[in-house]
Amino acid sequence: MRFIDSHVHLCEYPDHIPSLNLARSLEMMLLSSGVNQVSSMRTLEIARDEPSLVRAFLGVHPSKAERGDSLEWFEVALREATGAGELGLDPKYSEISPKSPQMTTFTRQLEAVERAGKPVQVHSRGAEKQCLEALSSYGVERVLLHWFQGEADLKEAEDRGYFVSFGPALLHSKRLQRMASSLDPAFVLAESDGPVAFTSLGEAGGPSIVPTVVFKLAELWKMSFSEAEERLLRSGLGYLDISGKT
Ligand SMILES: [Zn+2]
Repeated sequence: MRFIDSHVHLCEYPDHIPSLNLARSLEMMLLSSGVNQVSSMRTLEIARDEPSLVRAFLGVHPSKAERGDSLEWFEVALREATGAGELGLDPKYSEISPKSPQMTTFTRQLEAVERAGKPVQVHSRGAEKQCLEALSSYGVERVLLHWFQGEADLKEAEDRGYFVSFGPALLHSKRLQRMASSLDPAFVLAESDGPVAFTSLGEAGGPSIVPTVVFKLAELWKMSFSEAEERLLRSGLGYLDISGKT
């Protein structure tokens, strides 16, 4: 294995097979996240069919959180999954307050993740502080702050030993470039967040962008592509808590 796309949504593609073929040819492992029960269960199926290529993460995305959500399926399905995600908070979708659906859906999932002892992928756009605060109440060990944009909160995340992933926006965002440069590569991962499309790059998102993100990180860290590749693979395996033959 050479690469890990640490955050992609295979279920959101009309056809995910081309992404699997691409990942196979690039020797890339895909950490695929669900956004609700249906896509999470489908993600488990894909991972079952392709165990060497795909690892399943299950969760309810903040855009899908609803009052009275039953999360029983989540705790049960999490036993088979590699980890939890995509879950978190985002004020773009609905208000966030201690008893809001977003907050209760997030914290109830974190409770289950703590019990399961599995890694989690957190969506924190616009709610970085609230996510860090909520996370501090749970004994969740391996946290990936996916596409984290909270420059002011980066030090806190770093001090806690959280992982941070960077996607295609790293190629043009000076803020993300500053953040990535300042981090210890041992806690950085690359991601596509596919199939989200990045129109500024003129192409649809997907795992094919990951080597370009690795290239950008190598440039920021002033190291060769192969060294960045190797360090990112190591941090990804550390996040998954597997040694992994490469
Ligand atoms: Zn995502």
